[in-house]
Parts: sequence; structure tokens; C-alpha cells
Amino acid sequence: MSTSKLETLRIETAAAVEKAVEVLKQYLSYPTVSAQQLAIPETVEFVVKMIREAGGTAEVLDDLPGNPVVYGYFPAGSKGDSGKTLLFYNHYDVQPPEPLDEWISEPFHPVIRDGKLFARGVADNKGDLVARLTAIQILQKVNGGLPCNVKFLVEGEEEIGSPNLAPFLEKYRDKFKADACIWEFGEKDVDDRISMVAGLKGMAYLELSCVGADIDIHSSVGAYVDNAAWRLVQALATMKNQQNEILVEGFFDGIEEPSEAVLQAIHHLPFDQESVSSMYGLKRPLITEAKGQDPREAMVLEPTMTICGIVSGYTGEGAKTVLPKSAKVKIDCRLVPGQDPDHILACVQRHLEKHGFHDIEAVMINGQKAYRSDFNHPFIRHVMDTAKEVYGKEGVLAPNAAGTGPMYIFGEQLQLPIVSTGVGWAGSKAHAPNESIKLKDFEEGIIHMAYMLLGL
Ligand SMILES: [Zn+2]
Repeated sequence: MSTSKLETLRIETAAAVEKAVEVLKQYLSYPTVSAQQLAIPETVEFVVKMIREAGGTAEVLDDLPGNPVVYGYFPAGSKGDSGKTLLFYNHYDVQPPEPLDEWISEPFHPVIRDGKLFARGVADNKGDLVARLTAIQILQKVNGGLPCNVKFLVEGEEEIGSPNLAPFLEKYRDKFKADACIWEFGEKDVDDRISMVAGLKGMAYLELSCVGADIDIHSSVGAYVDNAAWRLVQALATMKNQQNEILVEGFFDGIEEPSEAVLQAIHHLPFDQESVSSMYGLKRPLITEAKGQDPREAMVLEPTMTICGIVSGYTGEGAKTVLPKSAKVKIDCRLVPGQDPDHILACVQRHLEKHGFHDIEAVMINGQKAYRSDFNHPFIRHVMDTAKEVYGKEGVLAPNAAGTGPMYIFGEQLQLPIVSTGVGWAGSKAHAPNESIKLKDFEEGIIHMAYMLLGL
């Protein structure tokens, strides 16, 4: 690839970006809140229109349960076809905009202020889709066609956990076959470096409940009646010790050894302990400190077990003497490659039995396996190298993020390397009020996607 090709892309993108922002603003005006099933058909229609206007063919796949998935296809042009296929994964749904009174401008009336575009879904992830489609249009213009085949999978249930994606991909595996995949999201970090991920952690979201009686009881009978809240906290105390070690037998079964490349990449990840502590107002030292562990290693390689919420009895103001009839806790376990959520649930159930807590029931609310791309795959290097040229500085690529998403379904069904990158910034506030992207990042994101495709 010559520098002049990149320069041409920069010039063409500068000329095309204004129109792309207008298209994005239209797209953002649909209140596509999947949790409330809002504006789904209209948004699907708009996504189809965008794909067709960019020169591709679009198909709405709605023969399975769940919101429709839009399939987009752009065949390679005649010039220099590499024979490869790239798949873009995006979603057209967004998070609910609440709390509404914290928005400076209306969430579904996109507004530009200080070089930023504000609207619900602009960073997560409507801006990415428009950037990618714009990159394709530019390549068709300057390159006389695409250097490879490009496919899009745009789903409408990502923000509610993609509950129907696994059977969908199983059915349509051949349709979405590709050599590599660019995932939905990404952003620049606090140092303005593009930060990307090549995998995601999995999840076993559990609910444990203990029922001790049919009704709440006068607490005086605590003299002879056992207490569901105590039972639950005693059970929890057997699952994790004060050193924050998970004690459930079998919990760590199957965990994949990280490759040398993964370990090296971890040591290039940024981590500023002081800013983390002050951002959250932490009152205790990091748990990795006592273990003598690098927090970045923990983020990428360690599974977690977190109490998300716990309820029982009276928690209002003042005193109410009561012996609660039941207690409930929500626990999320972030899993790493090799762990299986069903196995985690079975281990927790066995653990409770073994420790005499037959009266505590454990169920799984949702489960998802982790995914980490093969870090030695040339595609991973290619995305990094092109990012460095386009953004003018080295990007950061995490082997897997500490968060969760349906990446494993893609990796397992399609067997390809996946990198997530996008047009957000460190202050994008995805899922929160006043979500935004910087127009400059949007423009650079278009250039990166076009330049990356050129060398594929
Ligand atoms: Zn999201």
C-alpha cells in the first residue's frame, strides 16, 4: 500500500463526511429501543435503504424468533479482488435513553455541539455502521470497486443480550461465512489512542435464593427459627474468601492457557491505578494488590464472581424487627475462554449441596461463553498496522475486553478472527445520558475502515 492511497482516502473522506453525518442523523432519529420494542420495522427499513444506497444488496431475515436481522452484501469489484470476505457485525437497536431529564438535548433529535454529535446510539453503535458503509462507498469511487467481498450482519437485539443470535447463526452459517470480522464497537482511550479488542469475556449470571418460611415472622422467634438471610450470606461466604479467591470446586476447569502473544499484548495495555481509584472513589486497595497481581492480567485472564445485588427483609428507614421469609442474591461471573456457563452453574449447585445448603436454589439468568481471537492471525496485525498509519500513533489491542458480548457465537460458528474497533471516544457515555461521538473520530474511523479493506 502506498501513502498516496491513504492520502486519496483522506481527501475523499473529507469530501464525503458531511453527507455521511446527515445520513447518520436520520438513522439516529429512530428511537430503536429494543427493550421496549420501539421503531423496529422503520429502523430495519432504513438500514436496508442505507445498504442499497451504498451499492449493496440487502435482505431482511425474519423467519426466526426475535427482531429481524439485516444481511448486507457487497461483492468484490473487478480490480484486484483478493478473494477474501470481511464480515461487519453491527446492531441497529439502542439502550433506553432514561433518565431523560439529564440529557442536554433530546436523545432522538441528534445535535452537533463543539465538534461532537449527540444522540442515543451514536457511539453504540449507529455511528459505526454509517462509518463502515461510507468507507465502502468511498472505495467504490476511488478504487473502482471493493478489494474483497464485504458482508454485514446488523441485528436488533444486542442491547437486550442477543437472545436469538445463536440459533440464527447456526441456521445462516453459510450465508455469513467470512475470513475475518470487524465487531460492532470501539473508541479512543483517555490518551486519544484507538483502543480495540480481539475478544470478550463470557458470563454466567446466577440468582441464588433461600426461602425459609411462607411468611415474614416476628423476629422474637429468631430464638428458635432459622433465618434465610443468614443462610444466604453463610453460603456466599463459602464461595469466595477474604482474599477474593473463588472457592467453588471446578470453577476454573477448562481455562485456556494464554499464548505468549496474548501475554505480551497484556503488558502493552494502559492502566493508571491512581486515575481508576479516583474515578470510582475507591475506599479500599485494589484486590489485585494483595495478590501481587497485575490488574491488566486480571482484567484479561481472570474470571470473576461478583455480587451484583442482595435483598432480604426490611431495608427502609429506622427499625423494623422482622425475620425475613426469604433472601435473594444476583451474582455475575465473568468467564474467560475455555469456561462453560452451564458447568459453572452445576459447580455452584454442587458446592451448595456439599456445604449443606440444600435449601438454597441456584439458577442461571443468562450464560455466554468467552471468545478470544487467535492473536497470531495476520488479520489482527493488519488491523493494528493500518490503524497506526491512519491515526498517526500506535493503537492498543486487548486480547479480550473485560466485558461480555455474543462474540463466541460468531467465533464458534464461523471460525474467524474478530477485532472490535469503532468511532467512540473516552467520554462517549454509551448507555448513559448525553451519548456522543467526535466528528473527527467519525471521519478517521471511515478512513481506517477503507484503508484496512484495501489491504485485505
Ligand atoms: Zn450497548
